[in-house]
Amino acid sequence: MATSQPDNPRTDTSPETPAKQDVTLQTAIQYVKGVGPRRAERFHHLGIRTVHDLLQHLPHRYELERAQQPIGELVADQNTSAIGEITATRLVGRGRKARFEATLSDGTGRLHLTWFNGGYLAKKLHAGSLIRVQAKTKRYQGYMQMVNPKWEPIQESELEAAKATQGDKDSKSRCATDDRIRPIYPATEDLPSEVIDQAVQNILEEATTLVEDFLPEAYRNKRELPALGDAYFKIHRPTHESEVASARRRLVLDEFLLLQLAIAMKRAQMREQSHASPLPWSDTIDDHIRARFPFALTSAQDEAITDIRQDLQKTYPMNRMLQGDVGSGKTVVALYAMLMAIVAKQQAALMAPTEILAEQHFLSITEMLKESDVRIELLTGRMPKADQDSIKQRLARGEIDMIIGTHALLSKGVQFQSLALVVIDEQHRFGVEQRATLRERAAEVACLDNASQEGEGALFASATGEDSTSPPTRPDGFAPHTLVMTATPIPRTMSLTVFGDLDVSTISELPPGRSPVITRVVQDEQRDTVYDYLAERIANGEQAYIVVPAIEESPAAELKYVTEHSRELAESYFKGFEVAEMHGRMKRETRSRLMHRFRQNEIQVLVATTVIEVGVDVPNASIMVVEHAERFGLSQLHQLRGRVGRGSRKSICVFFANPTTDDATKRMEAIGATTDGFEIAERDFEIRGMGEIFGTRQSGASPFEVAEFPRDFAMLRMARRDAEKWIAQDPQLEKPKHTLLRKQLLLKVGQHFGIGDVA
Ligand code: ADP
Ligand code: MG
Repeated sequence: MATSQPDNPRTDTSPETPAKQDVTLQTAIQYVKGVGPRRAERFHHLGIRTVHDLLQHLPHRYELERAQQPIGELVADQNTSAIGEITATRLVGRGRKARFEATLSDGTGRLHLTWFNGGYLAKKLHAGSLIRVQAKTKRYQGYMQMVNPKWEPIQESELEAAKATQGDKDSKSRCATDDRIRPIYPATEDLPSEVIDQAVQNILEEATTLVEDFLPEAYRNKRELPALGDAYFKIHRPTHESEVASARRRLVLDEFLLLQLAIAMKRAQMREQSHASPLPWSDTIDDHIRARFPFALTSAQDEAITDIRQDLQKTYPMNRMLQGDVGSGKTVVALYAMLMAIVAKQQAALMAPTEILAEQHFLSITEMLKESDVRIELLTGRMPKADQDSIKQRLARGEIDMIIGTHALLSKGVQFQSLALVVIDEQHRFGVEQRATLRERAAEVACLDNASQEGEGALFASATGEDSTSPPTRPDGFAPHTLVMTATPIPRTMSLTVFGDLDVSTISELPPGRSPVITRVVQDEQRDTVYDYLAERIANGEQAYIVVPAIEESPAAELKYVTEHSRELAESYFKGFEVAEMHGRMKRETRSRLMHRFRQNEIQVLVATTVIEVGVDVPNASIMVVEHAERFGLSQLHQLRGRVGRGSRKSICVFFANPTTDDATKRMEAIGATTDGFEIAERDFEIRGMGEIFGTRQSGASPFEVAEFPRDFAMLRMARRDAEKWIAQDPQLEKPKHTLLRKQLLLKVGQHFGIGDVA
């Protein structure tokens, strides 16, 4: 049986020619017995170049192959084999396409054999031939049958021996001992599973003894994991299902563990190498900040604030995600953090994904801080150039404490005098690549005057930017604290993998006084009934959003659609109400004027594209209608629904949908079934598959080769915990017992995580 020999060196990964007959893990596949140069090509197509690759080419399922049985005892639908004498043959049709039929008998019963395209067999099999056949059994017109069975000739003695034991009472148990679990490999047309199986058979014993185990034995014992060589052996040649399970467990944990170790190492490294300005905190500061808020915070908000202020007091940058469902009150939590920066006489930036959202933050935060001396400005790409320039200058001189804006905040020419904190709102709306550059750029613009200043900042004292001209000094590896906020909770799986380097705080409770939103997914045919009903509610003082999908191919068509739809509604169901349209290409002033009028209830119905998706907050709006809901993503629908249910009225959300695809149907079911953002996120994850969310473009492709979700989630968590402990004790995995592990880590995930340099 395979055992591991950890001291066997294996560093090179390119295929090699074997010296003499010795197989190594690097032996090229063509030298494996039974492969050869021509077949090797086909193995290459499956990505198998070496013995090691072959070991890692795992069965994707198994078939139970019953041992040979007397024909009389065969039952249908089993993979099995039987032996006997052919008693009759028949050729139906002509040439190679002909069907060849035979009857096989062993004295206990008769088995019908059929080979399609079996004309060639007429010369090989005759009445009297003794053969073994193997295939899945079927019952066909009352007979036991095998279609296209594999066959081989046998000796008469073999048949005699089998007949001799047929009388045994416990022939069943005798057979059972020879049952085989047959691995089925991912294969190609010209390289069928059986050929791969045979190649594996030829090297498995030897190769698995060569596998070195990079996990320390003590750890393996603690987690009851088989040695790596054993795991490979058993996953290719299990004698029982439980062996597959334990082997798989080992291989899954390997994947997770390497990833989690890399993440933990990277975090440790970051803490070591990056610096941030620690922000002071005290009960007094806390009181002062809270005094600005017009409401008491929920305990969920308090917990998030505790996490954040502890991070901000550290000398390395905070890297935290704040997740909380739509309307859970993330903004004040962010504001708390920003005020901590300002108390420390430093700057804070809040970046939103859209102009509308940035403006809204600007308005609501300005309102909350109106009695203070905090100098707060808005910066978006659409503002007049001169205004932008002046703001940039004042930012660099430290004459602005808090800046709110779109990604224009990170554009060229923006430089801070002393940026301590960057808050990124609704970060899921920023593209994957944008997200990566955000943090880098934030570090670049945060030109900090590191000489920490005494006393309290603008929040209480009048801030006169007196000493703001001192040249900024920035220690190497300086980065501002960052807080990213999202209402689209990341599925737990991802929070432990893709976002594994983020700390996460969760606001899991809504502020008091909200009533749950009633959701209805309805077909277009019900349009009249629905709109009539909504018109009644609007007549009673409620307000509505009507959202239409973006038409990406044609913005012009989209505008037309918004315009036509709002006119149609204004002239039919909503006659007598003020109906307005809003879209992303309107001037900012026009939009904010519209939003203002909507807030004042001068407009009752707002027909809009998804520009209102994030952050818009009008408590009296209690009706949300989404047209063609099947065209929206699940989290987008959830976001839209979150625009209502903000006041004390019973809100309703209607999704008109005629889904035509499977996924769309699933999305509609999910959005109708729950209002819990966390559940929505998990469902979204399931429907869309791993790859898309991971941002690996090939849709559905998982970054893991063996692991699957949600099946292996518990293992992921275990790997996370273990890796953290491990790295806490040996941050760079330098202890001798970790040498192999470290090597494996650098080989597998080092490059991806940029931890190659720690070597
Ligand atoms: P989101 O988490 O979606 O960004 P917001 O921060 O916009 O949520 O908050 C939604 C609404 O709830 C805002 O009108 C805000 O003023 C209000 N709010 C936030 N926290 C509380 C609280 N603790 N008590 C009452 N209202 C709150
Ligand atoms: Mg928000």
